[in-house]
Amino acid sequence: MLIDSHVHTFPEDLAARALKKLVEKTNHFIAPAGDGTIEGLLEAMRRDGMDYAVVCPIATKPAQFDGILAEALAIRDGARGTEAARHLIPFASVHPDDEARFEHLVRVAASGIRGIKLHPYYQPCVLDAPHLLEYFRCCRDLNLVVQCHCGFDIGFPFEPICGPERVARVMQEVPGLRFIAAHLGGWRQWGGVIEQVLGKDIYLDTAVLKPHFKDSDVRRILSEHPADKLLFATDWPWLGFADGMRFVQAAGLKPEQERALLGGNASQLLGVTSPSPW
Ligand SMILES: [Zn+2]
Repeated sequence: MLIDSHVHTFPEDLAARALKKLVEKTNHFIAPAGDGTIEGLLEAMRRDGMDYAVVCPIATKPAQFDGILAEALAIRDGARGTEAARHLIPFASVHPDDEARFEHLVRVAASGIRGIKLHPYYQPCVLDAPHLLEYFRCCRDLNLVVQCHCGFDIGFPFEPICGPERVARVMQEVPGLRFIAAHLGGWRQWGGVIEQVLGKDIYLDTAVLKPHFKDSDVRRILSEHPADKLLFATDWPWLGFADGMRFVQAAGLKPEQERALLGGNASQLLGVTSPSPW
């Protein structure tokens, strides 16, 4: 079973413009591998044999909570088509500055959505600040998975707000939190990941862009972090599934470790029991 723990989609009418803007924001460092729509995502998943993908929306303002939750439910319940309902696992998003954040987290959990996406650059916050730790305790108590951007974001000037040392502190302060540290624990802060996170009981997703596939720190994390704590991810549309799999397969893991990384671990974390036929 193949599960991608980190993809993004944009509304059909906005996708082309949104991708263009994001590419420009990074000075053309990134180039999309897909068009960013649900339809484009499903087509790529079918082609490359992905069974499931976790769709990660980001509320850049507290007021976007309702619209994002409604879209997650629309995906899950078939309003975006039966294939979307069958193959996508939509997450919700609750802005950390939302005055109703605890109530909103309760609503996410009560609606059966399995987790939330957090992105400290787009939802300005410091990952281990006291009010974030409260937010994470609430997520833990509701059994919500937190899929979190970690490390540098290439669309912004660097700020040390969500690097590996803060990831480690969150996990120390909120034991039992089901937390996925995206981009192998901290985009372009991989040296810090090796010092602070490697070998610990923390899920890392494997979303890394092609220019970093051969970085020695990146390769070391992929081959030395506990294989049951690695989750396949591409950050689609920023990387294609076939390229993401080639990156993981080059790590030389044992076949059972590779199977766990590509889907087994995520199936347990997300409570997905069987592959979904196309
Ligand atoms: Zn992402």
